Amino acid sequence: MAPASIYRRIVLKLSGEALAAEDGHGIDPERADEIARKLRDVHELGVQIAVVIGGGNLWRGTTGVARGMDEPTSHYIGMVGTVMNALALQDALERLDVRTRVQTAVQMNAVAEPYIRLRAIRHLEKSRVVILAGGLGNPYFTTDTAAALRASEISADIVIKATKVNGIYSADPVRHPDAQRFERLDYGQVLRDKLEVMDMTAFTVCEENQMPILVINFFDGDDLLQAVKGRSGIGTLVCDDC
Ligand code: UDP
Repeated sequence: MAPASIYRRIVLKLSGEALAAEDGHGIDPERADEIARKLRDVHELGVQIAVVIGGGNLWRGTTGVARGMDEPTSHYIGMVGTVMNALALQDALERLDVRTRVQTAVQMNAVAEPYIRLRAIRHLEKSRVVILAGGLGNPYFTTDTAAALRASEISADIVIKATKVNGIYSADPVRHPDAQRFERLDYGQVLRDKLEVMDMTAFTVCEENQMPILVINFFDGDDLLQAVKGRSGIGTLVCDDC
């Protein structure tokens, strides 16, 4: 019998905006519930899921810097914001009877475990969804880079970047309706054509570790579920020789 999923272990990068209300800010518990239902459906296939959660719905480091804040402090505020998102997502998953653990790169022992690589792997092996918050714990980085690094560290099969568009286009599809969507790209093509996938640090980590990246539309329909089931033509896959 064919396996239900083509992946054993995935890292899903969710931006903080995924949890936000209509205006893009704050945490909307209904959005958290929607995300949790999508994750539960994938989890039921037996896929090990680590989620790296962003914080842009609450704060971005650049926001404070633009207003004169000390830059590292502003980034730390962003990292702490990701922990709030992680707890909201954990709550929604637990209410669906999906067992979870939150691990943070910035220690917050009253609410979450510290990020410990082997312990994260152990949780995944025990079918717990691991929510990784606090980015890398270092200012100046993004949670995209955290996703790229954590995926490499825990030997995930792929980083799946949840977006609002169904893949990578030759130009912004909103402003250029004739933009072409790619089904597959190699790392070199992305760099040559300056295509937007992840920030450059994150992308370089993926390229150096030959970590495939799948960019999907997470929000409409069930593209995540279909992608892990191996349906072709979902989103854009970036990798060399795969
Ligand atoms: N951040 C950081 N180090 C990290 C990850 C995140 O300093 O390793 C800060 C950074 O200021 C960023 C904010 O946390 O703007 C929120 O993360 P991100 O912008 O990646 O969230 P997303 O856009 O995915 O919601």
